[in-house]
Amino acid sequence: MLTSRKTFLPFALPSISEDAIEEVAQVLRSGWVTSGPKVKQFEMEFGDFVGSKESIAVNSATAGLHLALEAIGLTANDAAITSAITFTATSEVICYFGAEPILTDVDPIHNLMTPDTLLETIKTKCDWNGKELKSKKTGKQIKAILPVHLAGYTCDMEGLIKIAKEYHLYVIEDAAHAFPAVHKDKMIGTWGDFTVFSFYATKGITTGEGGMVTTSNKEAAERIRKMRLHGINRDAFNRPGWYYEVVDAGYKYNMTDIAAALGVIQLKESHGFWERRTEIAKHYNEEFSSLKGIKLPKEDANGIHSWHLYRIEVDPKIAKVGRDSLVEELKERNIGTSLHFIPIFEHPYYKKTFQYNRKEYPNACQMYDRSVSLPLFAGMSKADEKDVIDAVKDILG
Ligand SMILES: *Cc1c(COP(=O)(O)O)cnc(C)c1O
Repeated sequence: MLTSRKTFLPFALPSISEDAIEEVAQVLRSGWVTSGPKVKQFEMEFGDFVGSKESIAVNSATAGLHLALEAIGLTANDAAITSAITFTATSEVICYFGAEPILTDVDPIHNLMTPDTLLETIKTKCDWNGKELKSKKTGKQIKAILPVHLAGYTCDMEGLIKIAKEYHLYVIEDAAHAFPAVHKDKMIGTWGDFTVFSFYATKGITTGEGGMVTTSNKEAAERIRKMRLHGINRDAFNRPGWYYEVVDAGYKYNMTDIAAALGVIQLKESHGFWERRTEIAKHYNEEFSSLKGIKLPKEDANGIHSWHLYRIEVDPKIAKVGRDSLVEELKERNIGTSLHFIPIFEHPYYKKTFQYNRKEYPNACQMYDRSVSLPLFAGMSKADEKDVIDAVKDILG
């Protein structure tokens, strides 16, 4: 057995430069720490980067997903379709409205919602009367699909949008893993009706906590801008004097200038972060290609992978050890791992509330048995990278 690392290597860490610290410090010294000019700047620069018409900064992707569903007018009589393999945020926001989350299985290679898994879900779990798509189980009307670009591999947007149009559904992309990512000739952020990014600590870029909604729907963007700050009809920074109007019972989902200052610098540095992650993923793929019973992630066949995560699958019948032993042995060597994700239908709340039948999700179940995410972040040193490669090869070789 190899000797273990002296320090623990987590599966992800943020990269915070001195420039970023200085930019945040300037905001702290300025006297304006909440939503203000930095948020506006971050929104503009982010919008320019992905090519979106409207960009609305919020304090998390979860808030952004919530506000997108609010903007399309989701109610308790409605349902929305999302992927069985995602973080709870994507399905919990549907539950906020008392609506029903309907889950698609995923494809066995990239673990995404695909046109095939979506059509299978529509065929088996929905009724179409030529005007409305309804849940067979509850009779609720399905209003949206929420595909997830898992790990940064992009979903087939043309295929999904075509089906969504046919069944009169909005497309709200969970792009928490997909910054920066390109699908066909356009960046993620310009495909669906809404795209929601996360700037959580471990994501492609971070603002500590934060998120961004992009859309080309001006009216919806205005609604989201209002609802992110108490339903007030104007943002605090362009409010004249003391007068303001509350036009709905909104939320407290605004991003702070402290967070946006970090975001502005992270955005500038994002290409370098992406290059380093891509390089590590390429090295992993080269080094692990000879290991038996291991399925490696692929470059995005339809675009440019963000390489937010590096997920492998261990086939317990062929590989030298199973997934759980691999995780255990990596931990003994001071190397962290994670799992993306425990299927939604396996969680007690969702099981109890919606009685999902796990037999309807064979690919999600197989992924749950076999998947593990190895350390991948821009700040990993060559030595960190080598430690992971040596350890994985030693355990599985
Ligand atoms: C991180 C994550 C979210 C939530 O992002 P927050 O900014 O923490 O709200 C949503 N979906 C997926 C797939 C995620 O990984």
